[in-house]
Amino acid sequence: MTSRAKNLTHLHTTLGVRSLYDSVCFCNRCGLCASACPAYQENPLEPNSPRGRNQAMRLFLEGKLKGKKHRAALRALLTSCSLCGKCVQVCPGQIPTPAHMLEFRRLLNAPLLPGSLFYLLRLRETSPRLFNFIVRTGLWINRLKILSLFAALPGLSWLKHTCEILPKQTPKPFNAPLQTRPNFIYLPSLEAEFFLPEMAYSAYHMAAKKHRVAVWKNTASGLFEYLYGDIRLAQKTVRRLLLRHQHTGNGKLPLLCDSIDVYHFLKQAPQLFEGFPAWQQKAQHFAQHVIFITDILPKRFKTIPHFENPVLFMPSSILQGTSPALKAAPQILQTLFKKNFVECGYKQAGTIAAGYGFIRGSHANAYQLQTVRTVAQNQAQAVFVLSGLAAMELGCSLRQFYPSAQVRHIADLNG
Ligand code: SF4
Ligand code: SF4
Repeated sequence: MTSRAKNLTHLHTTLGVRSLYDSVCFCNRCGLCASACPAYQENPLEPNSPRGRNQAMRLFLEGKLKGKKHRAALRALLTSCSLCGKCVQVCPGQIPTPAHMLEFRRLLNAPLLPGSLFYLLRLRETSPRLFNFIVRTGLWINRLKILSLFAALPGLSWLKHTCEILPKQTPKPFNAPLQTRPNFIYLPSLEAEFFLPEMAYSAYHMAAKKHRVAVWKNTASGLFEYLYGDIRLAQKTVRRLLLRHQHTGNGKLPLLCDSIDVYHFLKQAPQLFEGFPAWQQKAQHFAQHVIFITDILPKRFKTIPHFENPVLFMPSSILQGTSPALKAAPQILQTLFKKNFVECGYKQAGTIAAGYGFIRGSHANAYQLQTVRTVAQNQAQAVFVLSGLAAMELGCSLRQFYPSAQVRHIADLNG
């Protein structure tokens, strides 16, 4: 089964299944989202606002924006959206503007990733061993402080920012015992497995207290393909994951994600299989078993990290406006840190610059600085985030501009 369509024709939104066109038309042009959008704040022109973007897409789908001149303008509009998801959080209709922009990008065939990075990340699905070798070698070279020199080579400029956010020491590989009769699955994100193994260990040990955990190492979730490839690539990757899940414990085992983005993506997996009822049913069944770290955090903690100064929570999810996981995290932090806890409003809340790591649009630095400013204004000592990549990105900026604060992933609460 492979869809012929390169993009999603229907979106599974929080308010139901809608065709792409209908979803875009549901934007009632109220404009409430404009003040939350960092791209609009930086360049307050209507096409840069989420409302403007949705209207541009509607006109495009109605065939009213054709021709080279329009295409160039639309591509510029697409690259200025960081997929930060702030607009969804404030929108009364929960219009999924970032999901629209992703489909728009596919319709215009406007990839954001440099080819070399695309093919490297794609190797995790097509040739995991080679991927493992390249990443481990890269980390080793980075320790010698010469990886950034390769950024001067054609097509490898993305290495410059990558070197900035990578850990300075070579992380030890994440290893967990092989489990032959598992009753639980842990799917570590790329960041947790390769760059932040302490986070992967924390998630693993939390699960292993009560379960026999199988770790699906170096396994692509399909999120990367969804964000940067066409839908056929994402379908292929997710199909493989569905079948593996089906063959492990008859498809009944919980599957733990440590990245809020992977979690949201897999929860929405059924939308990849619109028009293929059998696969969609499998995806629905699978999605019910996907869980997030907040679902397994202990009810009581033996030790709680101590912070003298405020503790912030910054949601950074690009795919869905609301989810139980996004609500659970601040509640847990509020209970633990009480008056010392500050939940950032979405206007100030930090998100991964440019939506998903490694890409640095011209506006990415401005977004990050805004986030650092929020941390500094609150005189925060720690910032909790929900993905390894957010921790790496924000950690890098804080080290540079506000080193008295540290970034923690929510899994770190487990010690
Ligand atoms: S995206 Fe939502 S908040 Fe923004 S204009 Fe449309 S309906 Fe209003
Ligand atoms: S995802 Fe972020 S940058 Fe894109 S339109 Fe929404 S608020 Fe603006």
